[in-house]
Amino acid sequence: MTDPRTPAEYLPDDLVQCVTCAVEYDARDLPPLCPICADERQYLPPDGVQRWMRPAEFTGRIDLVEREPDLFGLVVRADDGQDVGIDQQAKIVRTAHGTVMVDVPAAITAEAVSALRELGPMRAIVPSHPHMFGPASAWSRALGDVDVWVAAADEGRLGRRPDALRLWEGRVTLVPGVTAWQPGGHFPGSAVVHWPGADGRGVLLAGDTIAVNPDRRTVAFMRSYPNRIPLSAAVVERIAADVGTVEFDRLYSNFEPRIAAGAREAVASSARRHAAWVRGVHDGFTGGSSSTPAAPERIGPATPLRIVHLVADLAAAETFWVGGVGLDVRYRKAARPSVHGAGGADRTDGEPALLMVGPAGATWHLELVEAGHPPDGARPGGTDDGSVVLYLGADPDPRWLARIEAHGGRRVDAHVDYWRRWGVTVEAPSGHRLVLSTRRWDA
Ligand SMILES: [Zn+2]
Ligand SMILES: [Zn+2]
Repeated sequence: MTDPRTPAEYLPDDLVQCVTCAVEYDARDLPPLCPICADERQYLPPDGVQRWMRPAEFTGRIDLVEREPDLFGLVVRADDGQDVGIDQQAKIVRTAHGTVMVDVPAAITAEAVSALRELGPMRAIVPSHPHMFGPASAWSRALGDVDVWVAAADEGRLGRRPDALRLWEGRVTLVPGVTAWQPGGHFPGSAVVHWPGADGRGVLLAGDTIAVNPDRRTVAFMRSYPNRIPLSAAVVERIAADVGTVEFDRLYSNFEPRIAAGAREAVASSARRHAAWVRGVHDGFTGGSSSTPAAPERIGPATPLRIVHLVADLAAAETFWVGGVGLDVRYRKAARPSVHGAGGADRTDGEPALLMVGPAGATWHLELVEAGHPPDGARPGGTDDGSVVLYLGADPDPRWLARIEAHGGRRVDAHVDYWRRWGVTVEAPSGHRLVLSTRRWDA
């Protein structure tokens, strides 16, 4: 590493920052408005006036706060108590091979530069996306011309090109054990950084690709957080599947809150929730005149559909549908034997082994029920086979049921307790069954 540089050396005269977002620009080539702030994902100041500042004008301090062993946050505090930039919190990962800065603080001070030097040589600066560019070139110079890794897809968002710019795509190893890749979403090149953590259980530094919610148990996936522009179900499912390929226990995003444990499952379940809401699965809970549509309108393009197949050999069915056809396993349950107490008391119906398969994110799936221990006499190839189950999330409208019966449908007893409890079963003239379930399905 080069000798420590003085602020005069790492803060050139032509370096300015946008006051609102803290992103750096070249003073000789300033746009009328900061493009980062003028973009639909961010915001201009209330008076609409663009303000620039030189980094040396910052009055306040930057604290290095240990968030967990070998992971530090850089907390920027202005003397006047105002937010600096968007109040982001850069993270520093310390490894035996040097440190990595993930996201860039909104300011830079000589004290903070010294504090980072004491953690070891810095090997990489990785802004997760353009909102986090900050004064990256100043930090790079101050710490010895550290490479600034910017997603090639977002190169056009740079207001100032660091001398040590590294454009990247795909998956990169920043130092041994610390990898970065780009699930995208919030920006085309939105990146995450993965690190095993001191305990080896895994930490995901997710910037705005995945944002920790105030409840600290769930996460959000948005094109814009301040302006509340959601991403589609397909994109959210893609991001969750992407980060689900690695193990991680904790998740940190742009700001202070974190998921302190079980973060991988929190991402998966939050993605399912997001997808279900934007697909309209839960529209029935939103009130307004559309909450009690005339019965037939309860079936829409997003109504979850289940097709039930009773199979004699569940393992063979899984081999066929998953291994052969390529469907994903959505849910699986082992068989439970029935219990018969003396005199018929304490009777518990057994439950067959079952497997639900379908494309991840689809609103339909197949339920494969092993019929080796058929409940209530169900049998493969019988009239229960091929039952269609619609998950209405509410009682079927009685007028609708009456209309179905007037058109040849016949209400019958369900073939298993489960559907007896959670729905109405109707037999079509062909003998096939339609279950109108009161349950919701959003797995
Ligand atoms: Zn700005
Ligand atoms: Zn952002």
